[in-house]
Amino acid sequence: MNKPNDEEWGMYDGQCVGCDVYGRVNDLGLCEECADKLERDLIRKRDWDYSASAFGLSADDREQLRRQIIARHGEKMELIAPSENRHKKQHRRSSHGSPSPRHSGA
Ligand SMILES: [Zn+2]
Repeated sequence: MNKPNDEEWGMYDGQCVGCDVYGRVNDLGLCEECADKLERDLIRKRDWDYSASAFGLSADDREQLRRQIIARHGEKMELIAPSENRHKKQHRRSSHGSPSPRHSGA
């Protein structure tokens, strides 16, 4: 058996953007574990275009795959944040409660 070693293709040494662990990450900057989570999240979201495991599957097969994922891992997103608008909070310090009246020397 000449099994192609495709386990490590496209893996780099780096820091995982998902869990901040240093190690082997893929081209998305995710370690294997987070890549798996992302994969499941994509399937939960039915982002079939981005899901490697859904590639080439029929719509029925994809739905079945999705049900399996949810049955096994739950419905909750693991890596991708729920798609609510996450505005980056800017730390704006408004000088509050200390009025400094400026006398313009009138
Ligand atoms: Zn990770």
